[in-house]
Amino acid sequence: MAFTVRHTAASVLIWISTFVSSARIYPANEVTLLDSRTVQGELKWVASPTEGGWEEVSIMDEKNTTDPHRIFVEIKFTLRDCNSLPGVMGTCKETFNFYYYESNNDKERYIRESQFAKIDTVAADESFTQVDIGDRIMKLNTEVRDVGALTRKGFYLAFQDVGACIALVSVRVFHKRCPLTVRNLAQFPDTVTGADTSSLVEVRGSCVDNSEERDVPKMYCGADGGWLVPIGNCLCIPGFEERSGACQACRMGYYRALATEGSCSKCPLHSYSIREGSTSCNCDKGYFRSETDPASMPCTRPPSAPQHLISNVNETSVNLEWSAPSSSGGRQDLSYNLGLRGTRVSINDLQAHTNYTFEIWAINGVSKQNPGHEQAVSVTVTTNQAAPSSVTSLQAKDITRHGVSLAWQQPERPNGVILEYEVKYYEKDQNERSYRIVKTSSRNAEIKGLNPLTSYVFHVRARTAAGYGDFSAPFEFLTTSVPSPIIGDGANSTVLLVSVIGGVVLLLFIIAAFFISRRRRKYSKAKQDAEEERHLHPGVQIYVDPFTYEDPNQAVREFAKEIDASCIKIEKVIGIGEFGEVCSGRLKLPGKREICVAIKTLKVGYTDQQRRDFLSEASIMGQFDHPNVIRLEGVVTKCKPVMIITEYMENGSLDAFLRKNDGRFTVIQLVGMLRGIASGMKYLSDMSYVHRDLAARNILVNSNLVCKVSDFGMSRVLEDDPEATYTTRGGKIPIRWTPPEAITYRKFTSASDAWSYGIVMWEVMSYGERPYWDMSNQDVIKAIEEGYRLPPPMDCPVALHQLMLDCWQRERNERPKFSQIVNMLDKLIRNPGSLKRTGGETSRPNTTLLDPSSPDFPSCLGSVAGWLQAIKMEGYQDNFTAAGYTTLGAVVHMTQEDVARIGISSVVHQDQILNSVQGMLSQMQQIQDRMVPV
Ligand code: AMP
Repeated sequence: MAFTVRHTAASVLIWISTFVSSARIYPANEVTLLDSRTVQGELKWVASPTEGGWEEVSIMDEKNTTDPHRIFVEIKFTLRDCNSLPGVMGTCKETFNFYYYESNNDKERYIRESQFAKIDTVAADESFTQVDIGDRIMKLNTEVRDVGALTRKGFYLAFQDVGACIALVSVRVFHKRCPLTVRNLAQFPDTVTGADTSSLVEVRGSCVDNSEERDVPKMYCGADGGWLVPIGNCLCIPGFEERSGACQACRMGYYRALATEGSCSKCPLHSYSIREGSTSCNCDKGYFRSETDPASMPCTRPPSAPQHLISNVNETSVNLEWSAPSSSGGRQDLSYNLGLRGTRVSINDLQAHTNYTFEIWAINGVSKQNPGHEQAVSVTVTTNQAAPSSVTSLQAKDITRHGVSLAWQQPERPNGVILEYEVKYYEKDQNERSYRIVKTSSRNAEIKGLNPLTSYVFHVRARTAAGYGDFSAPFEFLTTSVPSPIIGDGANSTVLLVSVIGGVVLLLFIIAAFFISRRRRKYSKAKQDAEEERHLHPGVQIYVDPFTYEDPNQAVREFAKEIDASCIKIEKVIGIGEFGEVCSGRLKLPGKREICVAIKTLKVGYTDQQRRDFLSEASIMGQFDHPNVIRLEGVVTKCKPVMIITEYMENGSLDAFLRKNDGRFTVIQLVGMLRGIASGMKYLSDMSYVHRDLAARNILVNSNLVCKVSDFGMSRVLEDDPEATYTTRGGKIPIRWTPPEAITYRKFTSASDAWSYGIVMWEVMSYGERPYWDMSNQDVIKAIEEGYRLPPPMDCPVALHQLMLDCWQRERNERPKFSQIVNMLDKLIRNPGSLKRTGGETSRPNTTLLDPSSPDFPSCLGSVAGWLQAIKMEGYQDNFTAAGYTTLGAVVHMTQEDVARIGISSVVHQDQILNSVQGMLSQMQQIQDRMVPV
């Protein structure tokens, strides 16, 4: 920049370029074009002109740009107050004029005054009224004037002094700009303000390094050099975060996945980043992320194996149920193979009597990332025998006057070898009970001896070793009036004619018969159902008591397979039975795979009777074939030791197993176990077998939590069971599991088994608690007699306790049958909501204490006479009677004074009596605390 100043008489003229080439910056938003104080060289102000007119100062811009700019001029000057100047009154002024003139030429020689545009008449804010030359203080005036929007390359400024005493100290010419700034991660350049006071200059920002545009960043540069109205923004790209207005890389161990996220985050659990600027973290070994997992989610693992797989076989259906795996891998999206979301499945229509292995494994969103490593639980079950499905394709081949030739296809699911078919038929408008049966082993039958012109109904069903299937749907047709077949070779035209006429007549007849028979059928349907029910399950197998055989060894030979001892490997002792050790081991029969077995041995030195009793268990067990009844593999009788080989039940007896796993199972799992036991008991009761010692200790549990009924020895109730106690009638009975009628007159039936089953339910739901706790057998018998029953165990669903109470009905015919129990449990399992309602929090119900003197007070403690006898104080019987203490209810209230008053003076005897009274009271308390009256 260069400029010159020429002198005029009383004025100064300056040429200034409108544009900045280099500038010394004063305030940040002002760009100075000229500052007289900093100009080196020939800038001389003169007081008077050498000739009239203007002198000039010029500055020329090299860039020649022509954007209009708003120019400001800051003038600093001092001014003498006219009053301080004596003798100039009338001519003295206190203002000067300020002009400008725009031009593209910085060398204009002569500019007429009229060419100038006046900017303002400038007056001083400060002037001097007092002149004291000695210590005069100069006051500096600063005035800024806005020149306006200029469009040419430069302009001239002129200061016209019209008679003031003025000293122009400096002139600074500047325009305003908005300075470079960064806003919302967008950088906005230095921007000169618009031409007029209200103009806004729109400026587009550019994103800072490592950021990207989100919405176009824009701001407006205001006339006074301020930025206004920021719009849009930039965001740091992934891997970077905003720090001090810039985008900086995430540190190691941190990541930023999306531009829209806040700052860098620490790598989530089980992941890491080993470089700066990471957009995601890598999973630790063995951990994965699914395609849809957000980067912020911890890395996860496939789940562990599902647990506690239970199977229930129901004919050819298998119900499987399991618990969720112990580890879900840290995810919520757990499912199981076959697309299962829940923890149970029913598989129907399997082949009868076939081994199936089911594998269940859990899956989650990262299982695909680690294929082939699923951890499965599996169970192998054998489906039961099942009757064949019904015959569906019945056809008449030939119809004659007196017969029909029927044919059909094998049922879709024969479920075994079809032994025979049964054809049942009857005249349609006769009573259905007068049907006839024809049996055949082929898939056709010639039915003869029918009446001509009669409508018949036919049903066919198949039979396998498992019994009869359902009858086919009714198949109706009409015998003809002609002697020879109307279908086939024998038909001639006369016969056909007769047949056609006959047919029309018959059709009318059929229609009438149809309406009549429909009405009748309605009434006979119920009867027929009952009848068919009987026919559908004929000859249910009945258990044979081996002791009915003259030679019990014969029963063993018949029901138990002899196994060669060399096929058995004994591994370890797992228990002690009545007759000897119980071991676990392996059985490898020729042509079969090796299996784990339990081996019961008969100790040496046994008597014949003991051998017979020992083997009777095998003869009984060998007659059973049910998934919830312990399976007999065979016996070793031809060498010593004599052994009974059964399937191995990994978890041993149910009572100990539950105690060991207190509180670990879901209600559904417990009910699943109960369902298994009930199903086994249903099978046994259907076979007319009465167990007599059904208790949790006699149920065995395998590794899949399948419960099986065991302990079938004939002598078991007498000898084997440590719970069994001799009753007054001499038998040994497990009192706590046995109903009153079996205790008092040995009436053992499936209904007494049902009572025991109720106790097993209570044992299961209380995880192996001892029924009636520490009450004595006598107290139990009495309490039951009084109508008390066990309360619901802790958290026991009300529906289950109700079922227990039903099993404990005094009247045995009112107890549910095992088939009803199974149905009931199935219903509860299907509808788990019904198991939600529990009776309360504690196992000890808060029944109010009964008043011992009330008629309701349990007489379970017996009579006063009996009590005195028991404590050997029967000598005082009369004292008690005379004083009116005839019931123990009254006795328990006695104090020492009472005892003395009735004439018992011996302090030792008084103490003995009062101690016993105390004991009675606490026993009563126990019974009442624990039992529920029904
Ligand atoms: P028992 O003589 O049948 O009462 O058997 C005595 C003990 O041996 C039982 O309480 C069980 O702990 C164990 N036991 C008997 N049979 C089996 C089996 N099949 N599998 C596993 N443990 C068994």
